[in-house]
Amino acid sequence: MPKSKKGHDWVDFKAVKDIITMEMVLDHYGLMSKLNQSGKNLVGCCPIHQGVNPRQFSVNPDKNIFNCFGNCNGGGNVIDFVSKMENVDTRQAAL
Ligand SMILES: [Zn+2]
Repeated sequence: MPKSKKGHDWVDFKAVKDIITMEMVLDHYGLMSKLNQSGKNLVGCCPIHQGVNPRQFSVNPDKNIFNCFGNCNGGGNVIDFVSKMENVDTRQAAL
C-alpha cells in the first residue's frame, strides 16, 4: 500500500464513491424513511444541520449527490455527506 508523506493510508475516493450510494448512507443513518420522493430526488429536512424545513435537503440518487439549501448552503458526494454527519475530515469518512 502506498503511503503519503503524512503517513496516512491511501484511500481510493473514486472507488468508495462507486461502491457506496447515497441510499446506503441514508439508510445507515435511518434517514430513508424521513425523506420523500420528489421526481427523481429525495427531499426532506436536512440531517446535517438538524433543519426543520422539509424541502431544504435533497438527494439525487442518479448522480449520487446531496444538496442542502439551508444552513449548510451546499452539498457534495457520499464522502462529503458522511464527513459532515460525523464531523470528520473527508479521509476519515472514506474509511
Ligand atoms: Zn443543511
